Amino acid sequence: MDTRPLFLANWKMNLVEADVTSFLTRFLPLAPPTTDRAIAVAPSFPSLRTASILLEKTGMEVAAQDLCHEERGAFTGGVSAAMLVAVGCRYVLVGHSDRRQIWAEDDALIQRKVSAATGHGLLPVLCVGESAGDRQEGRTAEVVENQVRAGLNGVPLDGEKPLALAYEPVWAIGTGESASPEHAEEVHRQIRELLEEIYPGRASALRILYGGSVTADTAADLMAQPDINGLLVGTASLEPESFAAICRCELTAAP
Ligand code: PEP
Repeated sequence: MDTRPLFLANWKMNLVEADVTSFLTRFLPLAPPTTDRAIAVAPSFPSLRTASILLEKTGMEVAAQDLCHEERGAFTGGVSAAMLVAVGCRYVLVGHSDRRQIWAEDDALIQRKVSAATGHGLLPVLCVGESAGDRQEGRTAEVVENQVRAGLNGVPLDGEKPLALAYEPVWAIGTGESASPEHAEEVHRQIRELLEEIYPGRASALRILYGGSVTADTAADLMAQPDINGLLVGTASLEPESFAAICRCELTAAP
């Protein structure tokens, strides 16, 4: 099982194919070796194959931003797990707060997407996190627990490509207000305990990423927390220099 800390760029609906080529051409010479860390980028669907080809033999990998919960058939606009595997994806984001909010994805659908991904050997990164309102009402632990339990309900762990979690407080996404390392660690520890309950004896090997306004200045302090095993980066991943600086951050916590 790959336990290297994972640095994952979520480009959302930003870069067209030519931008992806130009980004990766500039990024590759700046990026650190992938011996002690895993690095992946998540372009939009039309650029997945281009990214896979450009990253071949670099040690870096490709993620999709979403997938369809079904295998095939009349799901216009859907992209299945098998289609993502066929264009070289290794990871897929599931349940990102954009999907939960804009596309009204609920926990039941998200669970089906997690299952569809693992069923095809894709590694899902299940995104969870409380809204600003939840936080004000002191409901962070409850909301995160419910999302983790529902998203993983009945999902078995596959040995080689299991799954990862990403804690992304909604109030921190795209706002410039990152969670403090201490707050993030508290929630990550809670998620770890939940994972231990759901998958006894396996939780320490599952990666829990933090996402939400990460920058090169905050990356190392976040990564120094024992239960933070990677970073999911939006805005700061759109420039090769800033994403490379994040990927190069010093790692002090044990992988
Ligand atoms: C995200 O959307 O997954 C994200 C982490 O964005 P940002 O880094 O811009 O907060």
